[in-house]
Amino acid sequence: MMWRGAILAIAMIGFVSSAGCSSSEEPWKAESERCRKAGVALQVLGSGGPIPDDDRASSGYLIWHQGKAKVLVDLGGGVVLRFGQSGASIDDLDVVAISHLHADHIADLPDFLKGGYFTQRRRELPILGPDSNERFLDTKAFVEGLLNPTEGPFKYLSPYLTGESGYFKITPKVLSSTNKTPVRAFSNDALTVDAVGIHHGTIPSIGYLVTVGSFKIGFSGDQSAESTGFAPMVKDADLLVVHHAISESDTGIQSLHRLPSQIGDLGAAANPKHLILSHNMQRSLAKLEESLKLIQERYKGKVDVAKDLNCYVLK
Ligand SMILES: [Zn+2]
Repeated sequence: MMWRGAILAIAMIGFVSSAGCSSSEEPWKAESERCRKAGVALQVLGSGGPIPDDDRASSGYLIWHQGKAKVLVDLGGGVVLRFGQSGASIDDLDVVAISHLHADHIADLPDFLKGGYFTQRRRELPILGPDSNERFLDTKAFVEGLLNPTEGPFKYLSPYLTGESGYFKITPKVLSSTNKTPVRAFSNDALTVDAVGIHHGTIPSIGYLVTVGSFKIGFSGDQSAESTGFAPMVKDADLLVVHHAISESDTGIQSLHRLPSQIGDLGAAANPKHLILSHNMQRSLAKLEESLKLIQERYKGKVDVAKDLNCYVLK
């Protein structure tokens, strides 16, 4: 009897703790709701990087404006799942901006387009992204190759190239990755997207600044400290998302990514109100305390380490 009672008690504790756990595991629902109710907000869809060692999606971000998701930055693996969790609609997007064509920034594009077929959307969707070099296609060639009606691996989605058969048309726009002076890559009545070439090893890459009304939100993409044109473009941004992919001892790959001290230098130069560290992996998180110290010795503003679906409300 005593054993049965003990087993029952343990089972009840298990039930209570798992029931408690399920509600504590869903703060993302509240975060998504906060973003949908905001005037202007940034939502992190994917706060992780290419190494699959935790529960983070790869790179992806949404800008919300008056209840609608208007700008999608990057489409790494897992971002379409997070897009659904955020409550965003493909119908509402004004523009997609891709930082570069490493898989952890673009792999979910086919999944995103497949989902788009099931919407009411008919207006064109611009997709901004970098130009080419000997190892990478430019963004237009990448999209057109993927969807090529005869040879594309996703040729069944080729109507996206023309906007026929009930599909909306996607219009890739190629941006110079060597241009160190910002260009206006997209604008409409509500927002603008500025772009500048950044340095990420030998990979053609773009940093972005999204401006909604008086609010400015910068996206570093993956960049090394040689990205001299980026800080002036995002000067005094309200939010600056910076990719935190390595620790200070990973000097062997600082031609690809900023060391934490170099993230601090970027923060000091750009002076954002709020610095958000993303593209986090165990590789960088393992030394987070040391890295935050190096960043905050140089940059005195607010620093957050992003998690998937975190919402940062500006208005
Ligand atoms: Zn990359």
